[in-house]
Amino acid sequence: MRRIYADNAATTALSPKVLDKMMPYLTTVYGNPSSLYGIGAEAKEAVEEARAKIATLIGANSPNEIYFTSGGSEADNWAIKGMCRALKKKGKTHIITSKFEHHAVLHTCKALEKEGFEVTYLDVYENGIVKVEDVKNAIKDTTALVTIMYANNEIGTIQPIKEIGAICRENKVIFHTDAVQAVGNVDINVEDQNIDMLSLTGHKFHGPKGCGALYCRRGVRPEILIDGGAQERTRRAGTENVAGIVGLAEALELSLSTMNERNARLTKMRDRLMDGLLTIERSRVNGDRVHRLPGNINMCFEGIEGESLLLRLDMAGICASSGSACTSGDLDPSHVLLSIGLPHEIAHGSMRLSFSDDNTEEDVDYILEQVPKIVDYLRMMSPLWEKIKEEERNN
Ligand SMILES: *Cc1c(COP(=O)(O)O)cnc(C)c1O
Repeated sequence: MRRIYADNAATTALSPKVLDKMMPYLTTVYGNPSSLYGIGAEAKEAVEEARAKIATLIGANSPNEIYFTSGGSEADNWAIKGMCRALKKKGKTHIITSKFEHHAVLHTCKALEKEGFEVTYLDVYENGIVKVEDVKNAIKDTTALVTIMYANNEIGTIQPIKEIGAICRENKVIFHTDAVQAVGNVDINVEDQNIDMLSLTGHKFHGPKGCGALYCRRGVRPEILIDGGAQERTRRAGTENVAGIVGLAEALELSLSTMNERNARLTKMRDRLMDGLLTIERSRVNGDRVHRLPGNINMCFEGIEGESLLLRLDMAGICASSGSACTSGDLDPSHVLLSIGLPHEIAHGSMRLSFSDDNTEEDVDYILEQVPKIVDYLRMMSPLWEKIKEEERNN
């Protein structure tokens, strides 16, 4: 049977080229980077080379602004908890974020509320985009940090990062962005875009899982989250994930080297697929159609359950998602879809497809053939759809 992996926003396949680069560090070069003998020094050299590469690729001034972490979640936790706890001593106890952040940010903010911080959750409106003006209006004397994601993981909408960064700088507020979905897929330059802290993770751009990084501009010093040894210039303890770090840098370099060409191709595929699926009655695209990641499609089909749709898609060999992997198994509809104003019953009938370089026009053809059939089939058995049709007849 045909199998189409269209859940690249959840994770991506490790690139064989990346694995090749990692292999020596999983086998022969197993030394601890903190050790003084040859294979330790060799490992350390590889880590520092990766750090320099990543710094250059995101437009940082110095490799010393890159700290390796266990992934995006740790980078988000560290940036937000570390920075807020450091600034609390100066009377800064207010955080600004948005309603549709990843749970790594939202739950971190919730945790800080318990420590006495006040959090403003900005609206993202129907298009799934934060208004710069809202950020400006929310800033007050006690604001420690603004944390707004670069691109949303469910609906792919891209935020006005540079403008938000400029407002933060003007007001001397630290600006963090969870750029996990954006890194490798859009042009990022932390200097040009006024970003003080940025989270990224390798497994969203064909690198290994369990390895990410936090960029902290020179002088931006979050409190330490992981205490222990003196790794990462004493800021983040734990023996380095050498192979992961090497793979992270390689994956980012590869992803950026093919980005423009890939984005042109994926944008075309995405738009053809969205237009095709919009011919299904009572369907809609969630989030802004233009300011969104090239590979992201998120749609709702009224009168069906997203979960049943996913099961049927799986039977047809299509790996899709109804929201973020973290909320599957949860009965509440996605907080992202609710944040853009979808009613519960419509938000339940949602589907996210996310493409990578591995997807083809043939995948789009196949999905366009399968989805309408499955939606029809599910609606045939759906009391909710029955009710919708009934109401239509009565109007
Ligand atoms: C995947 C993801 C994360 C979590 O990254 P991990 O490396 O899996 O911890 C955080 N934020 C966003 C937007 C993501 O898509």
